[in-house]
Amino acid sequence: MLANIKYWEETAQENGFAIPHFNVWNAEMLMGVIDAAEETKAPIIISFGTGFTGNTIFEEFSHMMVSMAKNATVPVITHWDHGRSMEIVQNAYNHGMNSIMRDASSFPFEENVRLTKEVVDYFHPLGVPVEAELGHLGNETIYEEALAGYKYTDPNQAAEFVERTGCDSLAVAIGNIHGEYTSEPKIAFDVLEKVRKAVAIPIVLHGASGIGEEDIKKAISMGVSKINIHTELCLAGMDAVREHTDSSFLELERAVRKAVKQRAIEKIKLFGTDNKAHL
Ligand SMILES: [Zn+2]
Repeated sequence: MLANIKYWEETAQENGFAIPHFNVWNAEMLMGVIDAAEETKAPIIISFGTGFTGNTIFEEFSHMMVSMAKNATVPVITHWDHGRSMEIVQNAYNHGMNSIMRDASSFPFEENVRLTKEVVDYFHPLGVPVEAELGHLGNETIYEEALAGYKYTDPNQAAEFVERTGCDSLAVAIGNIHGEYTSEPKIAFDVLEKVRKAVAIPIVLHGASGIGEEDIKKAISMGVSKINIHTELCLAGMDAVREHTDSSFLELERAVRKAVKQRAIEKIKLFGTDNKAHL
């Protein structure tokens, strides 16, 4: 069934688990994560973003996302990830996404506030919660290089940012990056702790693929209630492709769906989201 992200992030926050956010941009990924959610009775977020438009036509694929979310036996949120403009997030909403992220984190603070607030003011009357980002995650690169120029979330700005924008959840930059980590992730828990104390809204961890189990559990215990996974679904899918090079295309497709499902189940269990669909 279609679900509300605000309800689930807050329920997760209150109950000490995190709701998984899975990026999906083809049928195998989408079916795989829904399979995982139904088998484990977990609420999940399925999400699309601009980075995938080179692979998949969002305006067509969105119909499958919305249909599968509605027909799922568990709560499913349809989300737009890293919206880079008002037009992009409006298009996402017009095609059935019931939750959006406005990411203006590459801009200076005042501009981030202004651009985020503009989207919040537009979407709140429509009942659509808005996630925003403060600090800035690096994109896929060498991890040490990313850290050298890393823009951590400033805990001293967090309360002001949330108050002035009215955003519903906050994505933090605490040493996490998108894509594969080329060396051990160094999560700045001191920054997370300060941000947690500064704001009451749910905190979101992007780039969680490759962050170790202990760090993930610690982050959840410190108040992270939504965790984004993309790269690990891709890696699981690619492993399945390599193992099935002699299979038929039909068999290969099923293997990829199953591999995505298994990895999603691992994440659901790690995040403590299994058997929470009834909450
Ligand atoms: Zn992200």
